[in-house]
Amino acid sequence: MKSTAQPCLFLGSVDKPERGDILKLKEKWRYKMIIQSTHVWIDDCLQPAQLEIADGLIQAILPYGEKQPDHDYQDLWILPGFIDIHTHGWNRCEAGKPTLEAMRRWQKHMPEEGVTAFLATTATQSQRQNEQALPVLREAIEAPGEGAEILGINMEGNFISHQFHGAQDLYTIVKPDPEVLLHYQDLAGGHIMTVTCAVEFDEDYAFVKTAAAHHIRVSCGHSGASFDQVKDAVAAGATGITHCGNGMRPFHHRNPGIFGAALNLDELYAEVIGDGIHVHFETAHLIGTMKGADKLILVTDSAECKDDPAAAQYRREGAFRLPDGTLFGSALYVNQGVDNLHRKARLPLVTAIHAATINPARYLGVADRKGSLEAGKDADLVVCDENIQLQAVFCKGVRQA
Ligand SMILES: [Zn+2]
Repeated sequence: MKSTAQPCLFLGSVDKPERGDILKLKEKWRYKMIIQSTHVWIDDCLQPAQLEIADGLIQAILPYGEKQPDHDYQDLWILPGFIDIHTHGWNRCEAGKPTLEAMRRWQKHMPEEGVTAFLATTATQSQRQNEQALPVLREAIEAPGEGAEILGINMEGNFISHQFHGAQDLYTIVKPDPEVLLHYQDLAGGHIMTVTCAVEFDEDYAFVKTAAAHHIRVSCGHSGASFDQVKDAVAAGATGITHCGNGMRPFHHRNPGIFGAALNLDELYAEVIGDGIHVHFETAHLIGTMKGADKLILVTDSAECKDDPAAAQYRREGAFRLPDGTLFGSALYVNQGVDNLHRKARLPLVTAIHAATINPARYLGVADRKGSLEAGKDADLVVCDENIQLQAVFCKGVRQA
C-alpha cells in the first residue's frame, strides 16, 4: 500500500503538537471523523458524498461539502471494504494450522489488500488436525485483533471428491457426514459459516440439510456432480459454488454438470478466483456475465505461502504449483482481483465491486453491517484510485497502517 500522510490528524494546526494533544487527536480520529470524495460508492455508483464516522460505524452519509471534512480525498474512490470468503492464509499464517499469534499477523496484513473482513479457510486434513485448529480459530474470532475482522470459518475440506481433490490431501477426504460436521461446529463455537461438499456423495442430501438447518452455507465444489445432483442439492439448501471452474467436472455441452449448474441456477452464488491463472479471464467473463452483479463472489483462495519468500520456488507465473504442476493456491491480492475482473475479464464495474463487497456479505448473512456504505454499517472503507491501487483502508473507522 502506498503510504500517505494523515492530514486529518493535524488539520488546522501549524504548531508542532504536544504528545497529549496527539493522543487527544488520535482519540478523535478513532471515534469521530468526516471524510469525503467526489467518487463514493453509494447506490451502486460513484458519486460525490461525505461520510460521517464515529464509534466504528458510518453514522451518516451527507452531501459533498456539507460539513468541514477531516480529510478530503478529492477524486479518489471510496469503496466498501473488501471481503474474502476463501483464503487459506498468508506468509506462513495458515487457517488449517493456526496459532493465535499467526492469526493476529494475518488480520493485520489483510487491509494491505483492501480486505476488512474474511473467512479463515481450512483445507482437507486429518480429523485430529481439524480438532486442534477449530478451537484456536474460535479464540481468534471471539477475541478480535487489530485489522480485518475474521467473520468466521470456511471449511473447504474434508467432504470432497477424490477425483476432483485438486491439491488437497487425498488420504483424509471423508464422505459428507452430518455428525462430523456438527462435531466440528461444536469445537468451532458455532463459527463455521460455510462448508464445501461434493454433493454427489451426500446420500439423501442429509449433510446439506443438516448444514442448512444449522446456518452453515453449503458450497458445492471439489465435485463431479451432475447438473441434476446440484439442482437437488440446491433444493435441499445448498447456496454456493466453490471456486467455479476449479476442482470440478469440466463443462460439456451434453453434460453440463456442476459447472453448468453454477452458471444456470440463478439462486447459486459462485466464487471465482480472479487471477487469470486459475480461471482464464474469458471464462471469468462468462461466469460473471451469467451470475450478474448479484451472485458473483471474488475470492483469492490464497495459499499460506503467499508473500513467504521461502516459498518462491513454488511460485510460477503468479500462482503456486506443486512439482507436478497442480495449482494449490493463488498469490492474488483482492484489490488486484477487483481490477482484474473489471478490466481483464471485461465485467461491468458494478459486478467487479459487488463481487468483493455486498455479494459475499449477503451470502454470509452479514449485509446488515458489512458490504456497502450505508448509515449504521461498519465503517469498513477502501480509498483507492481508478486502478484499485490502495491509498488508505479503514477497519471499523480505524485507519490501518
Ligand atoms: Zn481453497
